[in-house]
Amino acid sequence: MLQLDGRNGEGGGQILRTALALSLITGQPFHLGSIRARRRTPGLMRQHLTAVQAAAAVGQASVEGAALGSTELTFRPGPIQAGEHRFAIGTAGSVTLLFQALLPALLRAPGPSTLHLEGGTHNPMAPTFDFLARVFLPQLRRIGVDVRAELRSWGFYPAGGGQLVFHVEPWKEPGYYDLRERGSLREQWAVAAFAGIPYAVAERELEVVGRGLSIGPAARKPLLVRNSRGPGNALLIGLVHEHIEELITAIGEKGKAAEQVAQEAVEEARGYLEHEAPVGEYLADQLLLPLALGRGGVFRTGAPSLHTRTQIETIQQFLGAAIRSEAISERVWEIEVRP
Ligand code: ATP
Repeated sequence: MLQLDGRNGEGGGQILRTALALSLITGQPFHLGSIRARRRTPGLMRQHLTAVQAAAAVGQASVEGAALGSTELTFRPGPIQAGEHRFAIGTAGSVTLLFQALLPALLRAPGPSTLHLEGGTHNPMAPTFDFLARVFLPQLRRIGVDVRAELRSWGFYPAGGGQLVFHVEPWKEPGYYDLRERGSLREQWAVAAFAGIPYAVAERELEVVGRGLSIGPAARKPLLVRNSRGPGNALLIGLVHEHIEELITAIGEKGKAAEQVAQEAVEEARGYLEHEAPVGEYLADQLLLPLALGRGGVFRTGAPSLHTRTQIETIQQFLGAAIRSEAISERVWEIEVRP
């Protein structure tokens, strides 16, 4: 049995999610100790526990240690089941991260699957639904991955209750990924989504975005969200280049001024615009697993985050993949995945 250490690298929830995905695919059982040892609240939180239970259901696995707060887990996978799957996190924990943990197995399932997931859809420190739909999934489409994603309702912290549905086709013909240039800037847009809070919050955010980036009034839109269980606010900035769309997200928080939320997003957007690499920090860590499971590929990004480096290490514990990351200039790195 593969022995994994949850203290490695970043020491967060990604080691667990990646281990679940790779165990289902390779059939390799694993034991993970010191789960999320470097987080303020170590062990399995609701979001991680749901990932374990969902992976166990999709892969007919036997599991020891699947309990809230557990810091150890043993996971023995069985055959992957296609078809309808429904999982609810029960809190505002991120359903997009849950989706990413289950996707690889469903791509290798014997038939199409439909995933109904409930929880947080627009969380800080996780991909938003819009990031999945506009950035992550379109990049996977380039290598033959066929997934349709639907947002049925929004889930914000703390109420949660957002609903996403994914239709996943088995991955028949993986293609090689090559994204080294972003191409020219084609379009910029901003949406300030708000539920159960004053319209003025969205207006103030868009005002800051308008001043900070060259996004004219026609490309800045407030969006009143009616289908959400609780209040919330998400500011989305799209930076559309010839070969990739990047999406910057800032999630509003109680007690944080709209101007500050927007200013942080503007600075992140400027950071991307001033860089030349196509792949942003977050997409970089999210691409590694699909590339290692397909025919591999190469892309350019900024200096790899600790999250990316930890992800590389976890993947290499399961797969023989060679993953090279190399600085090709002061700010641009090239990452190549060879399965
Ligand atoms: P933990 O539970 O241990 O606190 P976690 O499981 O919630 O951590 P991380 O291990 O930190 O989550 O992983 C977060 C994931 O979310 C990473 O894949 C990262 O790329 C992605 N992510 C974080 N912020 C963004 C963002 N603004 N846009 C897109 N993706 C994001």
